[in-house]
Amino acid sequence: MPSSKGYAATNAKSPLAQINFRRRSPGPHDIVVDILYCGVCHTDLHQARDEWGGSRYPMVPGHEIIGRVSSVGDAVIKFKPGQIAAIGVIVDSCRKCPSCAIGEEHYCDEGPTETYNSLDRIDGSVTMGGYSNNYVVDERFAHTVPENLSLPGVAPLLCAGITTYSPLRHWRVGPGAKVGIVGLGGLGHVALKFAHSFGAHVVQFTTSPGKKADALRLGADEVVLSTDDAAMRAHTKSFDFILDTVSGSHSLDPYLALLKRDRTMTLVGVPQQPPGYSVFSLIGRRASISGSMIGGMPETQQMLEYCGQHNITADVEVIPIQKINEAFERLLKQDVRYRFVIDMSTLS
Ligand code: NAP
Ligand code: ZN
Repeated sequence: MPSSKGYAATNAKSPLAQINFRRRSPGPHDIVVDILYCGVCHTDLHQARDEWGGSRYPMVPGHEIIGRVSSVGDAVIKFKPGQIAAIGVIVDSCRKCPSCAIGEEHYCDEGPTETYNSLDRIDGSVTMGGYSNNYVVDERFAHTVPENLSLPGVAPLLCAGITTYSPLRHWRVGPGAKVGIVGLGGLGHVALKFAHSFGAHVVQFTTSPGKKADALRLGADEVVLSTDDAAMRAHTKSFDFILDTVSGSHSLDPYLALLKRDRTMTLVGVPQQPPGYSVFSLIGRRASISGSMIGGMPETQQMLEYCGQHNITADVEVIPIQKINEAFERLLKQDVRYRFVIDMSTLS
């Protein structure tokens, strides 16, 4: 495998800068992908800055990858050179535990191999993500892309898309359900599109008054400014399901107060400071808090097909790779409408 290049953090405080590195040699089941686009997930920022602990440097982030297949191994059946392929948050797993056996590889008992900041199961190297020119991946962990969708808008579906599609499906969000989406960022805006498309009555919660018109355009039936206590109280005990996509510190209590009896609030956002709640918010209505992480390979492909059928993509701002540090700062200021996507042709 020839040398690769990408943008890397070299420690928790450094801006990202260009480096050269090596990927593992492609095997018979691997495809090599020339990367066209990579989405910028808030997880990239959390990990580049070691906000969750366990970061390995240098780190090339990026797990919302769209690329063109440049070569395939002898045993590859799903892809041919020249075809578009998509790679998400995980690139390998043990493949034999109960979760892997049913296509829930992201819940692998041994822990899945992540697209970056993980140890490659084949050669032990540290995986490097999609802010780079190419990727080597087993075809089992790559997806085909419906031809009618615009590629920059597909990239975020590989993380933001599946991370919200999966819990909305698991908790059977559909017609007749009143559903809340907390936070209108990368994950939140795709969650809103899915919940609306599934036929639910969707209420978007936001801390940003300037996002109200966008939320309505993206499919919200109602928009609530979460800083407005009276507006929040007006929805007390009325929700069937709430999905929390927030990346920063916040309390769950104001949202738990909005659930009907026996309902669930699912957390997908992973703030550095874990969100707090009072036990009283749960016991008064037998409420549950749950969590959900991305989705398995079959469900990710199913989500992409659903998006193809319903013409769903992310709303994106395409940036050159040279603007990635600025994009991170803008993410922190909640200043993205609604996902940055890097045009990788700008990497020289
Ligand atoms: P993002 O684009 O930055 O969006 C996060 C949104 O949360 C912001 O736009 C803002 O929405 C709201 N927010 C931010 N700080 C807040 C605070 N202190 N209080 C209240 N609201 C706040 O981030 P993202 O890429 O969607 O990622 C969101 C989170 O999900 C991150 O923690 C990320 O690591 C995590 N994640 C988890 C998974 C998983 O598998 N579970 C997968 C991907 C990402 P408003 O302006 O509308 O208030
Ligand atoms: Zn992500």
